[in-house]
Amino acid sequence: MATATLSEFRNEPYTDFSEPANRRGMETALHKVRSELGHEYPLRIGGELISTGDRLVSVNPSKTSEVVGVHHKANADLAKRAVENAYAYFPQWSATPAEERVRMLLDVARILRLRKFEFDAWMVFEAGKTWIEAEAEIAEAIDFCEYYAREMQRLAGPQAVVQLPGEHDEMVYIPLGVGVVIPPWNFPLAILAGMTSAALVSGNTVIIKPSSETPTIAAKFAEVLLEAGFPERSFTLLTGSGSAVGDVLVQHPKTRFVSFTGSRDVGLRINELAAKAQPGQIWIKRVIAEMGGKDAIVVDADSDLEKAVDGVLTSAFGYQGQKCSACSRAIVDAKVYDPFVEKLSAKAKKIKVGPSDDPGNYMGPVISESARKSIEQYIEVGKKEGRVVAGDTAAPEGGYFIPPTIIADVDSKARIFQEEIFGPVLAVTKANSFEHALELANDSQYGLTGAVFSNNAEHLRQAKERFHVGNLYFNRKCTGAMVGAHPFGGFNMSGTDSKAGGPDYLLLFLQAKSVATKV
Ligand code: NAP
Repeated sequence: MATATLSEFRNEPYTDFSEPANRRGMETALHKVRSELGHEYPLRIGGELISTGDRLVSVNPSKTSEVVGVHHKANADLAKRAVENAYAYFPQWSATPAEERVRMLLDVARILRLRKFEFDAWMVFEAGKTWIEAEAEIAEAIDFCEYYAREMQRLAGPQAVVQLPGEHDEMVYIPLGVGVVIPPWNFPLAILAGMTSAALVSGNTVIIKPSSETPTIAAKFAEVLLEAGFPERSFTLLTGSGSAVGDVLVQHPKTRFVSFTGSRDVGLRINELAAKAQPGQIWIKRVIAEMGGKDAIVVDADSDLEKAVDGVLTSAFGYQGQKCSACSRAIVDAKVYDPFVEKLSAKAKKIKVGPSDDPGNYMGPVISESARKSIEQYIEVGKKEGRVVAGDTAAPEGGYFIPPTIIADVDSKARIFQEEIFGPVLAVTKANSFEHALELANDSQYGLTGAVFSNNAEHLRQAKERFHVGNLYFNRKCTGAMVGAHPFGGFNMSGTDSKAGGPDYLLLFLQAKSVATKV
């Protein structure tokens, strides 16, 4: 059995695009995917392909005249049908031996690896990812599959329990039932693949409701699941507006759990709706919710300022600041504040913004017209709340581009210090001391990621104890969590701290059963 000899988990290496062969490979993939843009994708419920005629059109945010995919939107009746189908197939799927599910998931990783450049290209076109960001994402998707396959193997084996005299005592993990998986658009492959593969490999049947911004990447991933052997009835790809089908999926009495990643408000709504038992429902629904962030980097007086500037820039403007882990607040000790702001703004002004298929651009577009409007409104608010030291320049045309924007001298009560903007906008705030900097960092309803740049061991010790975030980093950027090394999930309004890519994660998709036999 292939799964008996699984090697130790290792993170998937990133493709080096400075190698001419890799560069050519990526250019070929972009060319091929461009020729496939605009295709139509039906819904897929229990293996049945359904065209509703109610179309969802996804466009290239770098070039909005370019249609990436045309999808069919589900309605409430189809959402109900999807849950019923998943419920009917659950007994069969949950009885499939864990090693078979593990083997399928490893095959998903293998296929993704083979189609790496192609998936990179889809992410460039549909999500506006630069080559490097797309590559980091597919590597993460592969990592999730490899990691959860190993985790399932571990959890399917014998679990340590005390043996009472005269008994044989066991504990086994069994799946929950029908899961609704609702990912965001900003990691349209990795988060979707991570949540879906965790649910499926644990033996649950799944309804995937992809983001309306990135349905084509979801459809491509569904192809991979099928190719790897996941049965057609084990999952449904239910494209459609979250506001139209989300409540139906969450409230359905046969839904057993919801695995959500997205904004605070939608997460809170799901949590509230799921908590109310519906007629015919015989369980308490489980909600795994990973939500927004307002992540801070603290720059201490005694720190390597160049490294701090680079760490803040990468964290704030990688993927246009559209990461839940992105740094949107830099909190800087007064002793180094002025030189820090000067260096930061000088470097930000050199960042190249433009279409993400051109590897010369460090920043691509934001995801949509509504995102651009919302971010631009925040920039207007920010102009009144602080001093613009970068940004406020013309952005390229043809796509949803916004220049990297830095607003200095921002008070901690300012909206741009407190609210998640989810775009390339960084607030910089002065702290009187390290203690004060930590207070400011914790002055947030969120608690997802954070970082500290400091050479002072005592300050790092204090931060480890008091900086209240799910993922804390020292002397490095606050983005780029690696599966296995940095289990990911946040505190407070950032979610239920699921710790994706860590040893606790699969347990969220399972329940433990104790069996005691008198001997
Ligand atoms: P969003 O607007 O909350 O949407 C997330 C998903 O929820 C989408 O698939 C959306 O579908 C769906 N949805 C919308 N309304 C719904 C409803 N009433 N019921 C059920 N589902 C519904 O978030 P987003 O703009 O896609 O993503 C950005 C947010 O995600 C940011 O706040 C970011 O911080 C957060 N995020 C968090 C993490 C983390 O690990 N903590 C990771 C990544 C992103 P439609 O697209 O059809 O509306």
